Order: sequence, then structure tokens, then C-alpha cells
Amino acid sequence: RKGTAVITGASSGLGLATAKALAETGKWHVIMACRDFLKASRAAKAAGMDKDSYTIVHLDLASLDSVRQFVKNVRQLEMPIDVVVCNAAVYQPTAKEPSYTADGFEMSVGVNHLGHFLLACELLSDLQSSDYPSKRLIIVGSITGNTNTLAGNVPPKANLGDLRGLAGGLNGVGSSVMIDGGEFDGAKAYKDSKVCNMLTMQEFHRRYHEETGVTFASLYPGCIATTGLFREHIPLFRLLFPPFQKYITKGYVSEEEAGKRLAQVVSDPSLTKSGVYWSWNKNSASFENQLSEEASDADKAKKLWEISEKLVGLA
Ligand code: NDP
Repeated sequence: RKGTAVITGASSGLGLATAKALAETGKWHVIMACRDFLKASRAAKAAGMDKDSYTIVHLDLASLDSVRQFVKNVRQLEMPIDVVVCNAAVYQPTAKEPSYTADGFEMSVGVNHLGHFLLACELLSDLQSSDYPSKRLIIVGSITGNTNTLAGNVPPKANLGDLRGLAGGLNGVGSSVMIDGGEFDGAKAYKDSKVCNMLTMQEFHRRYHEETGVTFASLYPGCIATTGLFREHIPLFRLLFPPFQKYITKGYVSEEEAGKRLAQVVSDPSLTKSGVYWSWNKNSASFENQLSEEASDADKAKKLWEISEKLVGLA
């Protein structure tokens, strides 16, 4: 039978390119988990995806109720769930003031980490009950949260500190909107959320890999300088960033190539190892990459898990 993969944020950028790459193999059905149904539907058609190769299901990660409703809706499709890809993200580098999810969390961490955390916890039992030979839960990471790299050292650097802001609810009411308890900084909030994604993947691996047989993985697909992720950046940045990445850092990848990389992590029989953060070298060959000290701190991962469980109502 075909495999079924849930991909969040499949309406543009990396998520769409991955959905297309998987659908084209004829071996996958993609559940496109998107906040804007019409946009997703137009995007799938424009990408030339066969209409039988995907199903769009509404998901707004900025609302925990929407995440719970999504889980119900997806179960009603009565399709097995073989792979889940937590890909969606918001990035607000120029925001002067924080914005908030329906549950009152600062938006970047609320969507990129907490929404995905609840989704992944809920869908773990569905993955476990699938009879697919290689079941996977993939959380898209990034180099920008990794302070052991050049890109990760561009200020403001990621830093979760002692997680005091998160423990306080990240709501700006009596607690900070930043995980480490500092002042709001949209670019840092995004990087922090990516560290949370990478820590969460490893904590899932430690808690559930042996018990469930599910492969947990993260990845840095390369710098996809053309996606909508940079839509809120200043125009000059948006103009110069793609050629800068292409010719100066040479870290640039096209959306199509990045989509193929993520599709590999979904389906390649050789990428079944759990607990790995995948990257690709200049020849587009995958390798197991090292995470920064903070992004591989097991104590922090445990603490992050416990606080996140409380915030999303699982504990
Ligand atoms: P895009 O902005 O193109 O895609 C992000 C997707 O997330 C969109 O489909 C967007 O939906 C969706 N999304 C945003 N908010 C929500 C929400 N509240 N609920 C549901 N979906 C939502 O960016 P990319 O494709 O570049 O980013 C994809 C992933 O790749 C992210 O995890 C990012 O951190 C990661 N990444 C990107 C890099 C890059 O260079 N671009 C580098 C490293 C990692 P909509 O279409 O409705 O706006």
C-alpha cells in the first residue's frame, strides 16, 4: 500500500516542495495540514500534484483547539498515519511587539514549538498503530539555532536560559514572552523555537523510540532563501539574501532540492536511524550532523518537555 504522510505548512516553501516530491513517487499520499485551505488547494494544483495524491485538512498551529480538532478530523479519514512532518513555522524578525496565539503564547514559540509539540504527542499513538515498515516523526530544525555554526552565531543568538519565561506561560502577563525571560526579540524567538524543535526530537527519541519503533529525526535542509519565511523581513534583505546565500556563503538550496532532502528523511530506506539531525554536504549527500551544546542538552530537553506538557494541557 501507499504510505501516508502528514505535513504541516504544506501550502508553501519546503512543505509544498516535499509534498510534491513525495506525491510524484506514486508511493505516498500526503495529508496537507494547513491553516489556509484555499491557499493550500491552489498551491497543490499549481505544483501539478495529482488530485488523488493529497488531502487537505485544516490545521492552525496557533490554536491548541485547532490542533485537537485536526487530530479528530484526520482520524475520521480512516487512513493510516505512517509519517508526521512538523514543518510549518513563522518568523517575525522585524516585529517590534510580540503577537500571541489563541492560547496566549508568544507566536513564534507558540506555533513552531508548542503547537507542534501537542500535535506530535497526540499523533504518536496513531504512528504506533500503523503497520508501515518504517514509521517516522520528523521535526524540521535549523542551523540558525545551532550556535556551533557560523550562521548560528549571527546575533541575536538562540538561548533558552533556565526556561523561566516558558515556565511562566510565555504570555507577557506576569511572565516574559521570551523563553529565557528576556525582552521581546522576534528573530531570537524564532531561533529559540528551532532549538526547542531539535531538543523535542531528541527527547521523543529517548522516551519513545525503543517502545514504539518510531524513528525520530530532525534536519537542516540548507538555506532556502526564496521561501515565504522571509516575507516579514525588510525589502532590502529580501532582495539581497538569495544572491548572498548563493554566491557568498554557498549555503543556498532551491525549494525543489530542499523538498527532495526532506522527502528522503520521510522515505529513504537508508535514513531510518532515530535521534539524528540530518544535513547535506556540497554534493547533496546526507550525513549525521552535530548539534550545538544547548541543542543537545539532555537535561534541558527533559525540562522543556515537562513544561511544554503542562502548557498544552497534557500534564
Ligand atoms: P514558508 O513560510 O514558505 O512556509 C511556512 C509554512 O508554515 C507555510 O505553509 C505557512 O502557512 C505555515 N504556517 C505558518 N503559521 C502557521 C500556523 N499557525 N498554522 C499552520 N501553518 C502555519 O517557510 P519555509 O518553507 O522556509 O519553512 C519551512 C520550515 O523550514 C520551517 O520549519 C523553517 O524553520 C525551516 N527552515 C527554513 C529555512 C529557509 O532557509 N527557508 C532554513 C532552515 C529551516 P501559509 O502558507 O498559510 O502562510
